[in-house]
Amino acid sequence: MNDCLFCKIIAGAIPSERVYEDSYAYAFRDISPQAPVHVLIVPKAHLSGLDGLTGAEDRLLADLLRAAHTIAVQEGIDGSGYRLISNCGPDACQSVHHLHFHLLGGKQLSEKMD
Ligand code: AMP
Repeated sequence: MNDCLFCKIIAGAIPSERVYEDSYAYAFRDISPQAPVHVLIVPKAHLSGLDGLTGAEDRLLADLLRAAHTIAVQEGIDGSGYRLISNCGPDACQSVHHLHFHLLGGKQLSEKMD
């Protein structure tokens, strides 16, 4: 999508610190990290968010979740633990409307989820 920030990052039109890439997924460090490890995992194909899913993307979603674990291993946080979050819609403060998962770790995360 032309005016999508994450599509521009995937295309290389906006710089990012890439940590992982495969045929379907691209992952890069969040510009405003909330934890020592804060990686955004996005599908290369534009999907607006969890609320835009139809079921046709089920395989892609499985690939993204597997990529998250691969990145956690790569970042050395698979043993200490990590959190995977996808903000969806205004109440969750979704600011970029391209499906993405936040991978957070590298410190003791809060028990509170909000
Ligand atoms: P969300 O609020 O869940 O939509 O998450 C969007 C995330 O994108 C935020 O955590 C931002 O810090 C992050 N972000 C925005 N612009 C960039 C960028 N150019 N490079 C890396 N991360 C970004």
